[in-house]
Amino acid sequence: MIGRFFILIFLWVSLIQTARALSFNTVVIDPGHGGKDGGCAWNGLVEKKLCLDTALRLERMLKAKGLRVIMTRRSDIFIGLEGRARLANRYSKAVFVSIHFNASKIRSRSGMEVFYRSAKGKVLAASILRKMDNNLKGVNRGVSHNNFKVLTDTLMPAVLIECAYLSNLTEARRCASSAHRQELAESIAAGILAAKS
Ligand SMILES: [Zn+2]
Repeated sequence: MIGRFFILIFLWVSLIQTARALSFNTVVIDPGHGGKDGGCAWNGLVEKKLCLDTALRLERMLKAKGLRVIMTRRSDIFIGLEGRARLANRYSKAVFVSIHFNASKIRSRSGMEVFYRSAKGKVLAASILRKMDNNLKGVNRGVSHNNFKVLTDTLMPAVLIECAYLSNLTEARRCASSAHRQELAESIAAGILAAKS
């Protein structure tokens, strides 16, 4: 009777772990903006450049861990949001990670946040933000549901990361440092890997 009880507990725990982990071997990395679309520009920084730099660092890290990585862009070119989702949807067993930096007219506003749309996207968002919060300075603004086009149009677990506020001088100075962007990419990579079953 006791044995059966423990078997039930074991099955329950493994069920929860399965529900929390995602099965994938491919990561589609989507560096926000590009080309004629610079994204936000504050404190001498342009969002599209930081997105691409962080994404290329993340690409190298994930490839080193044996994952297949697809980039929606690897240079300073413009790609529409539909095009990004269409490219991602060619791949099965994939997750989608869009990288952005935020801005606000309220200059004191700061912090990191991750957006998702589906339940599986939420699992990935929470895992990434947990690692970012553990490893990086800055306010944790939490994970939130959002209907951003790249989240609604992609068929796989998808997240959009707002790494920091470029309109906030402290965060802008931090993001200007390549060492910080390396730590940022490492945290995102760790979060993606932690969500993988
Ligand atoms: Zn953006």
